[in-house]
Amino acid sequence: MCGIAGVYGDKEAAKLTYLCLYALQHRGQESAGIASSDGVRMYEHKDMGLVAEIFVKRVLDELRGDRAIGHVRYSTAGGPDRKNIQPFSVDYKGMRIAMVHNGNLTNAVRLRNSLEERGSIFQSSMDSEVIVHLVALSRESLLEDKILDALSKVEGAYSLIFLNGDSMIGVRDPLGFRPLVIGKIGNGFVLASETCALDLIGASFVRDVAPGEMVIINSDGMKSRMFGKSAKCSFCIFEFIYFARPDSTVFGRSVYEMRKGFGKQLARESATDADVVIPVPDSGVPAAIGYAEESGIPFEMGLIRNHYVGRTFIEPESGVRHFGVKVKLNPASGFLKGKRVIVVDDSIVRGTTSKKIVDMIKKAGASEVHMRISSPPTAWPCFYGIDTPTREELVASHLSIPDICKFIGADSLKYLSYEGLYWFAKEFEGEWYCDACFTGKYPTRLIDAEHIENLAKAR
Ligand code: AMP
Repeated sequence: MCGIAGVYGDKEAAKLTYLCLYALQHRGQESAGIASSDGVRMYEHKDMGLVAEIFVKRVLDELRGDRAIGHVRYSTAGGPDRKNIQPFSVDYKGMRIAMVHNGNLTNAVRLRNSLEERGSIFQSSMDSEVIVHLVALSRESLLEDKILDALSKVEGAYSLIFLNGDSMIGVRDPLGFRPLVIGKIGNGFVLASETCALDLIGASFVRDVAPGEMVIINSDGMKSRMFGKSAKCSFCIFEFIYFARPDSTVFGRSVYEMRKGFGKQLARESATDADVVIPVPDSGVPAAIGYAEESGIPFEMGLIRNHYVGRTFIEPESGVRHFGVKVKLNPASGFLKGKRVIVVDDSIVRGTTSKKIVDMIKKAGASEVHMRISSPPTAWPCFYGIDTPTREELVASHLSIPDICKFIGADSLKYLSYEGLYWFAKEFEGEWYCDACFTGKYPTRLIDAEHIENLAKAR
């Protein structure tokens, strides 16, 4: 769970990158960093906290040059630690290379062990650092060839942006797990995880970086190299369900329309008599609008969100998270009294949020609470960059749907079916998307699965 961005060819590159990170803040709130370059020197600033807190004017003024890359991070691998903040940079033969990474590698432990045996000294516990070491060790001379050499050894999910004195290079893994888009601003170029970052800085959307593509942006413009063509893709379906911002276009589709469609499909599959449809804000809103539209039951904002609190789940300590639901959401009590309520949320992970929400709504006087989830049961952990807990902690891994319903205390519980998830693209189904969190069918081998699960346990 990270967001990445880069700007090349604009004298305000660092400020524009900062704005992109601001738009991508939902992808990670633990730390942020920017590296910029004027072609001779590299300038860097990174810290724990939110983008707006870290990048005050004085800091941004120091990030000179017409090119910059940045990162917002939530710890999926490596843990919450200052030394794990990206961009990650190394000096190699007088050349400084900075890199930002979104995704998770699935063979990083094995690679790291063999690099350490050969004398590499790691500064962080991040899987991403493996890529930087492999780049530095490559015998190729051009940066782009070094990167391709390094990537031939890594497995898993990676959308990457590199920066050195000459160029900014964007890469997406051959299965395309995580998004990465190209934008144009004046004579300059932008790379970003989501299109909402382009919108904020007034950049025009050019296209997605294709799975298995490297784009090299320098003073000659942009050139493309394909390095790992695969017959199928593994776009992360969870980007649509929860992770991306609804105003973004991801994998060529409007996230808002996708979510609304999930809600409509859910209503078709799980009709129930009720007085109101209410979303769990913000992530459940488009699906609830779709549900209400399809069912004809009025949409209401029965839960009010405090917008000054971050996403509850994103807090690493579970104590904070449990408290967080109450801090974040409060029911419109008088309004809900005596009503039969359908509550729409995008997913149930551990089940603690839904349990508290059902309880709140019942205490607010609702006569019935029917929980509707706009995705199938999340029963398997993600090894490709979404922060999900271990299998044991996922409530759907060990409880049946009726038992989850009892656990959360709802009058009924229905999930979107697996088939319904692909309402938008029946012809592709799982061929084009990674939906391993619902099926347990992982699209790559998982050499380090045990290690990644152990990291999740340690959090
Ligand atoms: P839980 O209490 O663990 O069941 O959390 C469920 C809530 O977390 C839902 O309201 C989702 O919108 C949200 N959620 C789902 N997946 C994630 C994730 N990977 N990171 C943060 N929040 C999530």
